[in-house]
Amino acid sequence: MAYTVPKLKDFSPAALDKAVAEFLSALDTESVGVQIESERKVFRDRWQGRKNGLLTQVNDLWLKTAPTDAKRDVGQRVNVLKSRVAETIEKLRPSVSATAVVKGLSLRTEVGQPTAYGDSSLDISLPGIRRPIGAEHPIIRTMNEIIGVFRNLGYSIAEGPVIETDYYNFESLNFPPNHPARDTQDTLFLANQESKPPRERLLLRTHTSPVQIRTMEKLKPPLRILIPGRVHRNDPPDASHSPMFHQVEGLAVDTNITFGDLKGTLDHAMKALFGSDVKTSFRPSFFPFTEPSAEVFVSCFICGGSGKRGADDAPCRPCKQAGWIEILGCGMVDPNVFEFVKRNGYDPEKVSGFAFGMGVDRIAMLKYGLDDLQLFFQGDVRFLEQFG
Ligand SMILES: [Zn+2]
Repeated sequence: MAYTVPKLKDFSPAALDKAVAEFLSALDTESVGVQIESERKVFRDRWQGRKNGLLTQVNDLWLKTAPTDAKRDVGQRVNVLKSRVAETIEKLRPSVSATAVVKGLSLRTEVGQPTAYGDSSLDISLPGIRRPIGAEHPIIRTMNEIIGVFRNLGYSIAEGPVIETDYYNFESLNFPPNHPARDTQDTLFLANQESKPPRERLLLRTHTSPVQIRTMEKLKPPLRILIPGRVHRNDPPDASHSPMFHQVEGLAVDTNITFGDLKGTLDHAMKALFGSDVKTSFRPSFFPFTEPSAEVFVSCFICGGSGKRGADDAPCRPCKQAGWIEILGCGMVDPNVFEFVKRNGYDPEKVSGFAFGMGVDRIAMLKYGLDDLQLFFQGDVRFLEQFG
């Protein structure tokens, strides 16, 4: 008769040991009968199943009903049972060497089940199984398009760590100590950093800008780099926010770089990305690491800038009927930022430069006409295979 977990009336150590011994003996006896993967799953569900598994019953019938003074004794034994069940199930997992035994032309797959060819035998004259080749994720594809535009302008690629120090993410980029972006409302800090000096504390980078400093520490001017990468902010996921998103940032440093160079470069890049007939508009803005700073808008490439779509003049949603879409932030590198890398040739009296950054996810949403950012990260094959 199959083992069932008994209700306990006696919680004395001796009675508990007896109940444990019976449980373990049943575990061993039943595990002997497990040969193939399907039997292993049945065994696993019977012993470990969350709803009605025997371990759950032990929890309910022994631990929960135990008198307070016996709870510790019971708890220790339940933990032993849990690990013994887990060990037993793990041992039953077939290994490649144990099961992929070729006998003539008959073999079993790694998981110990008959092969798809049926009847446990393999016909080696059949054609092989074609494995479909994946496609670029729409975010990566958009990122690569942006990279391609700037590579043609002579930019090289720079990358850096996703886990950053406060120094690279904030301090060296001219963020004042009490800037709101440093608040945990916006930034995901790693735990247990309190004993470190503030500038050494680790966080998930909130932008790709730390790579600007890291690159300027390594390479002397002139410099033209593009920085693609993943960044994190403490934003709950919704249609337009995600705790994880992607940026591409650019930095150009040389002697005599002006705001005119910045405008010309970005106007060219926007036309290359969104079509040669888009117009660009630069509007004053503020970023801690650039001065002056601007936001760049492109004329809406969906409605052509009219704010209306189709024969019935329906309102254009992507540009909110404004005819313009904000694409990126930019500006001339603040001399205070150069001060941090002055020793490597970036004397703010001698060099100047511009920087810009854009959100890849938003651009991908605009390009593919999506209204929910989460689609990119849910891993739904039905969505992703449309980009194959
Ligand atoms: Zn529009």
